[in-house]
Amino acid sequence: MKAGNKIKYSHLFSDPKPGQLAVGDGWLPTLYDFLDKCDKHSKKIQIAQIKEKFGQARIYADNTDEYLGNLIKETIHKLNNTCEVCGKPGQLNYEKYIRTVCKEHV
Ligand SMILES: [Zn+2]
Repeated sequence: MKAGNKIKYSHLFSDPKPGQLAVGDGWLPTLYDFLDKCDKHSKKIQIAQIKEKFGQARIYADNTDEYLGNLIKETIHKLNNTCEVCGKPGQLNYEKYIRTVCKEHV
């Protein structure tokens, strides 16, 4: 996470510290879009952690409502079809590591 964006959205995290947004660069545009929507919606969301586990996106958050719950589901669905390296369409791949990548980044 770039320093500027990290500061911009740090109020949405329950305990801002390194490692709370632990994903590859290809996922960051989608996540910044997600954080921006959270910020505009209510700012009340408390994100514990956003990370990749077994190649799939995980968003752990408290104080969500129906809108935020749906937004989290949509964001995870989008990330799980996006290359974690470059942001192009991707899918879960088991060849070397378990992660979501495009054909180039297998
Ligand atoms: Zn890629």
